[in-house]
Amino acid sequence: MLTRKQFLTAAATLPALAAALESDAEPAVPPAATPQLDAGPFTLERLPYDQAALAPFISAETVSYHYGKHHKGYVDNLNKLVAGKPEASRTIPDIIKTADAGPLFNNAAQVWNHDFYWNSLKPKGGGEPSGDLAAALKRDFGSFAEFRKQFAQAATSLFGSGWAWLALANGIVQVMQTSDADNPMHHKHKPLLVLDVWEHAYYIDYRNARGKYVDAVIDNLLNWDFAAANYAQAVKKP
Ligand code: FE
Repeated sequence: MLTRKQFLTAAATLPALAAALESDAEPAVPPAATPQLDAGPFTLERLPYDQAALAPFISAETVSYHYGKHHKGYVDNLNKLVAGKPEASRTIPDIIKTADAGPLFNNAAQVWNHDFYWNSLKPKGGGEPSGDLAAALKRDFGSFAEFRKQFAQAATSLFGSGWAWLALANGIVQVMQTSDADNPMHHKHKPLLVLDVWEHAYYIDYRNARGKYVDAVIDNLLNWDFAAANYAQAVKKP
């Protein structure tokens, strides 16, 4: 057994011994490449702003989990599902419009819905739209206030997980609710704006108070420029 003194002496020489051994060692073999979970035809789109840019209404922590874990998870799942299959060369909107219910539809739609959601928000958003979309909201809801009421109600009352949308359906701007991953394009409607009301969108910041999240986002973060551009596009196409 080593005495305390012998132990301390041996311990003191260990770093020097290790350094000597290392200098004579073969160059380290580079570590195996980390598997790229999002390798595949579909990629995680960049956020249109910094992760902290939506605070205090949506915290950086929420965006970090929502974008970096949930949204990325759908991209990874989608890539695994299409690997080696003809769907790998299709577009996500094409899959959303035609796929049957199931994992392929769910993951493709969740990728697209989240990209659309991030773009439906912006720092210093909220307020009211102007131009053609403002006129359409007035025409089809009677007033912006009535649209806001119906949109908030749809987002707050949706049972379980899903999305509240403003969409163009048969030439009319309408509020729609969809459950889970569902998307207006699957029903031949054109999405203009969306609010994610899955719990992962608000639970860190608002716990169970979904209504507070809905009000905060509508009044402070909705990106009406994005919605107006989508509306202009939607009315142009047959
Ligand atoms: Fe989400």
